Amino acid sequence: MPGPSDHGAPARDEEAARSGPAARTAVVGAGIVGLAAAHALRARGADVTLYESGPPGGGQSAGQGRIFRHAHEDPRLVALVARSRALWREWEQEFGLELISPDGAVAIGDGVEDKLRTLEPFEEIPVRRLAPEELHERLPLLAAWTGPAMLDVDGGAIRTLAAVAALTDRLEDAMLREHVLSVRRTDAGPVEVRTGTTCETYDHVVLCAGRGTAPLARGAGLDLPVEVGAHVRLTFAVTPGGPAGRGLPTFQDGSGAFGETGVYAAPYPDGRHFSVGLSADTPARPDGGLADPAALAALADRTVAYVERALPGLDPRPVDHVHCWVTRLPWGDDGVGIWSGDGLTALAGHNLFKQAPALGEALAETALTGAVPGHLHHGQQLGRSAG
Ligand SMILES: Cc1cc2nc3c(=O)[nH]c(=O)nc-3n(C[C@H](O)[C@H](O)[C@H](O)COP(=O)(O)OP(=O)(O)OC[C@H]3O[C@@H](n4cnc5c(N)ncnc54)[C@H](O)[C@@H]3O)c2cc1C
Repeated sequence: MPGPSDHGAPARDEEAARSGPAARTAVVGAGIVGLAAAHALRARGADVTLYESGPPGGGQSAGQGRIFRHAHEDPRLVALVARSRALWREWEQEFGLELISPDGAVAIGDGVEDKLRTLEPFEEIPVRRLAPEELHERLPLLAAWTGPAMLDVDGGAIRTLAAVAALTDRLEDAMLREHVLSVRRTDAGPVEVRTGTTCETYDHVVLCAGRGTAPLARGAGLDLPVEVGAHVRLTFAVTPGGPAGRGLPTFQDGSGAFGETGVYAAPYPDGRHFSVGLSADTPARPDGGLADPAALAALADRTVAYVERALPGLDPRPVDHVHCWVTRLPWGDDGVGIWSGDGLTALAGHNLFKQAPALGEALAETALTGAVPGHLHHGQQLGRSAG
């Protein structure tokens, strides 16, 4: 990634990092992004405090399994995701764990050709079309499909619980289990963080608080255009006699052939469960509550109906639910951005699990140099949708 010289003059944080004692930094939120940021800050010699009000990984990072895929509409985001894939491998080495399954990411539907076209310039990302026979062999859970299909060879299911547990274990001594009420830039320079029972100041504060980021940032004078919705994902068991125990790929269905145009699914590490969700949310009210709880139930019902039509290899009675708030930026479903200035950095976006190692690296660099690397400055609208 480009260094600070690509982004103008270094800020006071860079001078502090070069000369004085270790920079005193705080990260708010121990979801996957905050954990990654705290880990990267420590690796760069910073003194880190990680604030978390609930169980680490209990917000948008909750539950087993996420999809790692390289295909994104914005080629700049493809490059960030490729960097992240390399860092996931480094984490696998560091923690001695498999963190992304080796079974690839499958996508079907008319969008496949666009995805292949976007990925074509990236020679280091192996992708190919799948013929119906190979699709069936790799994903025998799926009903008959003879249309476009592709395999992202280095994609796969992220072992989310293992990743959160490994990072939490590594950062336990940095963790402060407190709810952050306010973050404030002081006239003297340092940034103040107030919780129920503490008040501390830091050279730099990084907000990775998911749904809590925009309210905290607003109090410190940063306005983030975050839209909040609620999402549901269901988990189903592979039917007895089905391909239990074998490696299954992750799955995205943009075909509409089975009654839904945006569906994602990922296998559990046991190979006996598959989580399935629709790429749809239901919005929050301005006061933060759910506008229409019945809409969340309706999304769950649509997910079950989809499984009945498209995935006959699954028992359509859900065995597990993930309900959670999701945060989006207005420029696209995969939109992500960093806001930074005067000792405070905030990150917002959606579908961030796969990018977490690269985002952690970028947030650490921002905190220590004052410059937002790559295309992550919010003004660049990384992850912008064409449509
Ligand atoms: C069902 C589902 C499926 C998804 N599928 C994919 C996928 O396939 N691929 C992918 O890449 N992404 C996927 N995503 C998105 C991805 O999971 C999220 O973008 C990512 O987990 C966000 O992580 P985060 O650390 O930014 O936020 P969070 O995980 O929400 O972490 C924020 C943390 O901050 C804490 N916090 C908040 N406010 C405060 C406060 N004031 N004081 C102290 N602590 C605070 C919260 O308790 C929370 O633990 C999916 C999301 C969901 C919900």
